[in-house]
Amino acid sequence: MWSLTGDEHKVGRSRCDRPTFFVRVSISSGASSSKPRTTGHGSSTPARSWNRSGRPNVQSIHPGRIDRVITDAWARKNSGVGHYNHGDVVLRRSRRGLAVTWVQATRVVRDDEYGLLLWLPVGSGFGCRADDQGQATREEPIDVVVARPLVAGEWKDNSVLIWNPAGAAHSLWWFFHAKRFTGWYVNLEIRGPRWSDGQRCGIDVADMGLDVVVDPDRTWCWKDEDDFAAFTDAPGYWTAAQAVAARAEGRSVIALAEEGRFPFDGTYCDFVPDPTWSLPELPTGWDLPPT
Ligand SMILES: [Mg+2]
Repeated sequence: MWSLTGDEHKVGRSRCDRPTFFVRVSISSGASSSKPRTTGHGSSTPARSWNRSGRPNVQSIHPGRIDRVITDAWARKNSGVGHYNHGDVVLRRSRRGLAVTWVQATRVVRDDEYGLLLWLPVGSGFGCRADDQGQATREEPIDVVVARPLVAGEWKDNSVLIWNPAGAAHSLWWFFHAKRFTGWYVNLEIRGPRWSDGQRCGIDVADMGLDVVVDPDRTWCWKDEDDFAAFTDAPGYWTAAQAVAARAEGRSVIALAEEGRFPFDGTYCDFVPDPTWSLPELPTGWDLPPT
């Protein structure tokens, strides 16, 4: 098991304690005075769950293995999708089993044999599971997570370029605040194949809980180690073996940062999106489970 070197204490420790710098979202809910976004079902109320009782059917979305984003029947049925086109709206979904927990509406910058590059500007459609106060939740027991409704909102604060390198167990995020590059973020994850159900398309990931924050000067720190430890071997989360693999993946990306190699070589730090693009929105049925 990788042990901490102490390097993470040199840099911006507070930045690594909580994910608020990128997951602060504006959730439209009944508790909010702002006008709710529609959910894609023509409703102006919080996103409804998908069974008749208005609650998610926990039984049918039992998480099982975290890597079922790759292995389950839904993934096999809907995969085999070719590369997306420049400008396509693609949903980047986080899943726990068949339960979708996050949805980011993005636009495709490029997509080829090297990977998929997505643009998530401030104001993009964003959905997540939220508590009664409309707050997005952190890692929690899976039955707690899936009992909360998926609620539509919009992405706030930082625009993000998300690189999903082919075959890797992470995504690499460039953060921009007011068009200025502010740092990288390594999201350790297990990624499923590109999918399309005929009306929506996207990629699904199972987040591994552990992340790496890399500042513009390429100093870095691990992030969310407490959750990572707490949920190792918890039902619906990662196994101890997968945790070791995620740590190793993180170390390999950290090595690139320390050496100043791509993607930490300045590439895309001056990224400017296609000026003809409108904000990507959540399409109808964005909150449907992958069944
Ligand atoms: Mg993460």
